[in-house]
Amino acid sequence: MLSDQDRIFTNLYGIHDAGLKGARARGDWDNTAALIARGREALIEDVKASGLRGRGGAGFPTGLKWSFMPKEIGERPHYLVINADESEPGSCKDRDILRHDPHKLVEGALIASFAMGAHACYIYVRGEYYNEAAALQKAVDEAYDAGLLGKNAAQSGWDFDLYVHRGAGAYICGEETALIESLEGKKGMPRLKPPFPAACGLYGCPTTVNNVESIAVVPTNLRRGAGWFAALGLPKNAGTKLFSISGHVNKPCNVEEELGIPLRELIDKYCGGVRGGWDNLLAVIPGGSSVPMIPKDICDTVLMDFDSLRAVGSGLGTAAVIVMDKSTDPIKAIARLSHFYKHESCGQCTPCREGTGWMERVMNRMVEGRAEIAEIDVLYKVTKQIEGHTICALGDAAAWPIQGLIKHFRPLMEERIAAYQASKTPKMAAE
Ligand code: SF4
Repeated sequence: MLSDQDRIFTNLYGIHDAGLKGARARGDWDNTAALIARGREALIEDVKASGLRGRGGAGFPTGLKWSFMPKEIGERPHYLVINADESEPGSCKDRDILRHDPHKLVEGALIASFAMGAHACYIYVRGEYYNEAAALQKAVDEAYDAGLLGKNAAQSGWDFDLYVHRGAGAYICGEETALIESLEGKKGMPRLKPPFPAACGLYGCPTTVNNVESIAVVPTNLRRGAGWFAALGLPKNAGTKLFSISGHVNKPCNVEEELGIPLRELIDKYCGGVRGGWDNLLAVIPGGSSVPMIPKDICDTVLMDFDSLRAVGSGLGTAAVIVMDKSTDPIKAIARLSHFYKHESCGQCTPCREGTGWMERVMNRMVEGRAEIAEIDVLYKVTKQIEGHTICALGDAAAWPIQGLIKHFRPLMEERIAAYQASKTPKMAAE
């Protein structure tokens, strides 16, 4: 279990002052200039050595991503863009950083921007997060007033401007290139890659897009040392992570813990257990709505980190743990997600635009059992034709929940179909 002195987010629950004074008392902005004085290369190497992997879902090594930015600043300015478009169903971790610990993000933005040679950073906040955007703007204003942002930010010799930008509430704008398009004032539609943002991102300039949590942990990570961060969690899955646990638990919560904590421990210790006890557990979606669900027998022993969850055919994603007890109809739950993805598809590529609608319609019939058993295989095949064949990962995100359902609850789907057919047979015979 993570000890209190190893916690990064010491005001996650908003018990203390979220303002600059409170943040300083918790160690934020403590000689930021000294961190920056280490130099760009050294900062990137430190972040690499800490083993930090992106906290937005993909788990790509953060330091490595930073190193893709051009070493020299040429004619085109460099940008850091922070993705605060937290829209993954189940995920609500960045929200608490924005409203209760925003200075960690603001300080992290300065340090990360310096490391990548960026004099400007945009934080793209989900449209629905009105209060959170206001709380963040307040922190940015305080930082400007205190000389921590702007010319010679925090006495570091680096000029740095930070802008808070509010989106309009589209899930797809959480995809990094759609976010960049939206920031440029266009429709939030993902771009084809390559070119990757580090070569051609915002306004055609070198850009890195990072998640809120990835940037907010950077100052503490650097202050306490790469070795400290790397020692937490598991090898290749270093550090602490914010978990958002919702659904059928007694006390849903956000909590910071080490990566690799057993799922059962996470639920029992912090959420008062599954509603009705552990044996009443049906399944868990461990990383936000896009990752495949895992049934109870896997939940019994699985560890909450990138590699352990991948090994059982799921993923850590945003670490948004959605718990479903035995009162849940898993077919209906996944059909609801199919509706979500169909609604959020930007419609730009055919497999996603047509496939998400097709999958939703079939899933709705599966909920009733109004289908043929053979259609389960057809459905699975279609998810495979969508997965990996689209411009962005929304196609995969729409396919994976259905694949997880078929993998673990196929007998239930067959039972539902058989029951529906049986319910119709006498009537048809009578007719
Ligand atoms: Fe748009 Fe879907 Fe294609 Fe992504 S996969 S670009 S959301 S149509």
